[in-house]
Amino acid sequence: MAKHISVKGVVQGVGFRPFVYGLATRLNLHGWVCNTSGGVEILVEGQNCQLEEFIQLLTMEKPPLAKIDSVEVEDASPAASPVFEIRESESVEGAYQPISADVAICPDCERELFNPKDKRYLYPFINCTNCGPRFTIIKDIPYDRPNTTMAEFLMCDHCRSEYLNPLDRRFHAQPIACPDCGPIVELREIHSHFSTSVPRISSIEIRLSAILKARRLLREGSILAIKGLGGFHLACDASNPYAVAELRNRKGRVDKPFAVMAANITAVASVCNLLREEHLLLAGHEKPIVLLTRRKQTGSLTNSVSELVAPNLDTLGVMLPYTPLHHLLLNQTDPMLAREPVPAILVMTSGNYSEEPIAIDNKDALERLSPLADAFLLHNRDIHIRSDDSIVKVDGGSTAYLRRSRGYAPYPVKLPFEVKPILAVGGELKNTFCLTRDHYAFLSHHIGDMENAETYASFEQGVQQLAHIFRIECDVIAHDLHPNYFTTLFARSSKLDVPRVGVQHHHAHIASCMADNGLDDRRLIGLSFDGTGYGTDGAIWGGEVLLASYADFERFAHLEYLPLPGGDSAIRSPWRIAAGYAHALGIDVDDLPFLQNIDKQALRIVRQQIDRKLNTPLTSSMGRLFDAVASLIGIRNDVSYEAQAAIEMEVLSKPFILSAKPYPYAIDETGNGTNIHLKELLTAIIEDVRAHEAIGKISARFHKTVAEIAIDICKRARASTGSNEVALSGGVWQNQILLDLVRDGLKRKDFIVYFHKQVPTNDGGIALGQAVIANFSYDVRELAPATTDGKPSDSKLIR
Ligand SMILES: [Zn+2]
Ligand SMILES: [Zn+2]
Ligand SMILES: [Zn+2]
Repeated sequence: MAKHISVKGVVQGVGFRPFVYGLATRLNLHGWVCNTSGGVEILVEGQNCQLEEFIQLLTMEKPPLAKIDSVEVEDASPAASPVFEIRESESVEGAYQPISADVAICPDCERELFNPKDKRYLYPFINCTNCGPRFTIIKDIPYDRPNTTMAEFLMCDHCRSEYLNPLDRRFHAQPIACPDCGPIVELREIHSHFSTSVPRISSIEIRLSAILKARRLLREGSILAIKGLGGFHLACDASNPYAVAELRNRKGRVDKPFAVMAANITAVASVCNLLREEHLLLAGHEKPIVLLTRRKQTGSLTNSVSELVAPNLDTLGVMLPYTPLHHLLLNQTDPMLAREPVPAILVMTSGNYSEEPIAIDNKDALERLSPLADAFLLHNRDIHIRSDDSIVKVDGGSTAYLRRSRGYAPYPVKLPFEVKPILAVGGELKNTFCLTRDHYAFLSHHIGDMENAETYASFEQGVQQLAHIFRIECDVIAHDLHPNYFTTLFARSSKLDVPRVGVQHHHAHIASCMADNGLDDRRLIGLSFDGTGYGTDGAIWGGEVLLASYADFERFAHLEYLPLPGGDSAIRSPWRIAAGYAHALGIDVDDLPFLQNIDKQALRIVRQQIDRKLNTPLTSSMGRLFDAVASLIGIRNDVSYEAQAAIEMEVLSKPFILSAKPYPYAIDETGNGTNIHLKELLTAIIEDVRAHEAIGKISARFHKTVAEIAIDICKRARASTGSNEVALSGGVWQNQILLDLVRDGLKRKDFIVYFHKQVPTNDGGIALGQAVIANFSYDVRELAPATTDGKPSDSKLIR
């Protein structure tokens, strides 16, 4: 008897073939196993009962990193092979498969790394089939060494023998390396011609010199650019306020929090409270940045994380070392390394200036980061695809993604329906794009805020790389409705001769949440609470209650339109929004503390802009309402990063939230659609400010009011449509207090509530929504392809 088995899913670069080899040998089966660009193919022959057992154990005992999507078994004619063998990989025309994300160093390699008797003792590029770089070094499929950036390193005899031995942990570990044949590190100091480059054949003392020097520089307060897995980091001692302040200064980053990397869990626990789920997330093989609650400082404790790392916040983004190089930088116990003690917690922020993409290659890094870093810790293993650190937090018992990138991308979101090949280009901020085919939506790594040419170039390159790796030639390009987004311009000017589909931003959010939850097409209530999104009427939407399916949506209710003086630039000055809303609603705020330090002329201009309707778009944005209230009650008048005022308001409201009562509000169903009016709410808040109520208490009451409005509107939508399901999506739901209040409140009223599980609720998730909407709403025959001048002749508007 013989069977031919095709396995699809993430089955390459994860030790799948040696596992198959071991299993077949154990069961006395003959035949072969082979990687193709479509997955793994197996031919097994032997006794029937052994074949049955083989097929069963194939999924039951699969290696930890393998993700099997399908196993197809067919009868085959016996190959009369006398043994079981692993065959060379085959490239199959047009075939593709999901590829593994990068994996943090595994416990076995970590043990070897710190074992003085091991060949790879303190070698910064140790890896095996269960760990190491994957996505970031892959140039093509099938995933074999010649298709990675490791191709240029010739394996030594020792590595080759491990690579070829099916019983070895490094069998076909494509990035396999050792001190004799693999990549090396180098330390370069700026303003000094001294470079600690490391001769290949050398004693460990010499090999370690760059790392020891880096540890010393960090201890002494220097800022280092360190080449990592998916790009460069800028690092400094997190406990040193001068170093952190200097890093902020050089990076042009005023208040936006920095992430830190801690040597181990003990170091994390010394500064943050740790739930069990948070501990698991920190220690898992994806090693994201986890948002944790900071411990309250007691007087006697020395502070190992400066306040300047995350000003005005009660949380800290923390990760553990995920490459061997990180371990060597932060290790506190190894006797060789301990000669240069190093702080147990380092700031580890992306290696870029302001919002540019992170640097990935040495030359680019040396050019762009020289004004930012005192020294560079470089290595010569190239990064092919940029991948920033992912950011997650624990939401109840599950994981919420704030940025889904290294360790997760490009694992696909599996859809419950088949999709056309589509490119969805995403939004403007926190951009990711999405490519679909079959049942897969490949949501890209984090691209960033599309505010400069570098990020745009990184976006174009990313699209090209992923489309190539997954062999996707798209039939449609989906984009946001905003006419001036870089991504819209990309969609318009693409040379691809395919139709474009414009998708409304908040519809995309809700569809993203539906697809994220594996829902079939249906109509449900969507609460899209967000910062900014272009509406079908040209206004700036963001406080939207939609009745949405994949193909279509209807606007059931929204926050009333109010003027945004100066347009997008008001986002940086919440006081303008507050003063503008008050002026438009006829509420007098001149006596309030928040206006006391505002230039009178600037205030006059804001009011004139509104009266004369000059550069003053209308907005129904929920994010802007949070900004306005935060400013009105005195939290801050200007922000230096997105949602700063709202985030600080959330922090302040925490102690008061349990006892807080909602403010009055008004919902008007008489006019053209349902409007949520804000005059009553803002007037009541202002009365509390005048009565010198605590800012935290007012903040808490405001959160309660928004939650009450959300639940009230859902009940009205249910009464009018019969739909009992609610999807929550949009950046505002990163506010955990609001999310908990609304989700729990809706469940108490017997709603079924969907929230994101695999992709971010912020704009990092909208490409997924754009893709599924384009899939459902679009028919190839309906639309003409783009005209030769690059403009779409018929860009379909989804309303
Ligand atoms: Zn390993
Ligand atoms: Zn070697
Ligand atoms: Zn959005």
